[in-house]
Amino acid sequence: MNVADSEWVAGLLDKSGYRRTQRLEDAKIILINTCAIREKAEETVHSRLGRLAELKQKDPSILIGVLGCMAKNLADSLLESKPYVDLVLGPDSYRRLPEIIRQRQAGQGRSVDTQLSRFEVYDDLFPTRQSGVNAWLSIMRGCDKFCTFCVVPFTRGRERSRSVESLLAEAEDAIDQGFVELTLLGQNVNSYRHGEARFPDLLTALAAVEGVRRIRYTSPHPSDIDRRLLDVMAAHPNICKSIHLPLQSGADRILRRMNRTYTQGEYLALVARIREVLPDCSLSTDIIVGFPGETEGEFLATLEVMEQVKFDSAFTFKYSVRPGTKAAEYQDQVPEEVKQARLKRLLELQKPISLRRNRAYVGRIVEVLVEKESKKSDRQWAGRTDSNKWVVFDKESARIKDFVDVHIDSSYGVALKGHLVAPSEAYHAVA
Ligand code: SAH
Ligand code: SF4
Repeated sequence: MNVADSEWVAGLLDKSGYRRTQRLEDAKIILINTCAIREKAEETVHSRLGRLAELKQKDPSILIGVLGCMAKNLADSLLESKPYVDLVLGPDSYRRLPEIIRQRQAGQGRSVDTQLSRFEVYDDLFPTRQSGVNAWLSIMRGCDKFCTFCVVPFTRGRERSRSVESLLAEAEDAIDQGFVELTLLGQNVNSYRHGEARFPDLLTALAAVEGVRRIRYTSPHPSDIDRRLLDVMAAHPNICKSIHLPLQSGADRILRRMNRTYTQGEYLALVARIREVLPDCSLSTDIIVGFPGETEGEFLATLEVMEQVKFDSAFTFKYSVRPGTKAAEYQDQVPEEVKQARLKRLLELQKPISLRRNRAYVGRIVEVLVEKESKKSDRQWAGRTDSNKWVVFDKESARIKDFVDVHIDSSYGVALKGHLVAPSEAYHAVA
């Protein structure tokens, strides 16, 4: 989401006559778009800002700005502890950036604007995208769910969605610029609603745009996935069969305390429904270990769900206290060593499951969208399957943005290795 927000900021600055540099040392204005989801994200920003302070010492005319969630959350302490920061703008204030930069360059004092808006969706801004295959499309902002561990409802404010028309226009524009894949973004992407239109309606409309070869979306909230969404996914070959389904915990008492609005049983029933309607759909998840009050037995319930579902992959986090949230006030915080040990056990359980899920691809022929050069070799491409698996293979005559058939030869780590299939071999395998 921050990448997508930064593209809007870049678009605004482009329009105001600024140019992007590739080297930090060449920049006269340096903006950091921040995340406040966990303490670690904030620490990263603090250390990055420390390095920028050195640059500013050498050249005091450089302007340094902090944007996004951390700006909203920590405006006062940032200004107090970091005198070299010139401006602080929350996630709903990007529009004011050109004006604020001008004022500061004209010698005015430091600026802060962290006001949240009930309406701002940046509908009329055009993002400056880095060229590539995938275009991010931010369809809604904010969150009204108030999970007790989460800072997002405070930093990003209330839920609001963009109109179908403006999203269609942006999708067409992205296709005209050469993108072939859209990834729809939102804190709860499937809580999308604009007028009568709900998320499945938007997906249906975007899937019909000429030139949209693939659509992905992230992150949906399990409580907002309904049968119609699954039916729409099944009906459109260009909607990827891959769902990120954050579980957070497998224990009902913890889910209730987290205010997640589903039970273990409901989550498992949803997984079963997804697999029934979309048999080839891959599933990934987010898990938090060491939420306040989580007992050993409750942690085991999470492991059991992971064992049962067999996710393709899992993003796992130690619970991080977010000041201002409800869970931060809970008295029964779990000690750091216990969180660390649980995280390790969770990873040990998931790793072989991910490997097995990948190994199941060996020997199959899959369609891959060529996205970029492999990190390991300039003679190889990397691309993804519909189910969001990375596949690496020798380039041969394939080009970026091609859809190619790849025979999977082996799986390693989180990716698959294969070779391009000549049309006759592909035919052979299918026959
Ligand atoms: N809206 C999405 C998640 C967005 S935040 C959803 O509700 O599913 C991304 C992930 O960060 C969350 O799924 C959660 O696992 C993790 N997260 C959020 N707050 C956290 C905290 N305080 N400590 C640890 N992990 C957290
Ligand atoms: Fe945070 Fe997601 Fe819960 Fe919203 S639904 S409060 S973004 S975890």
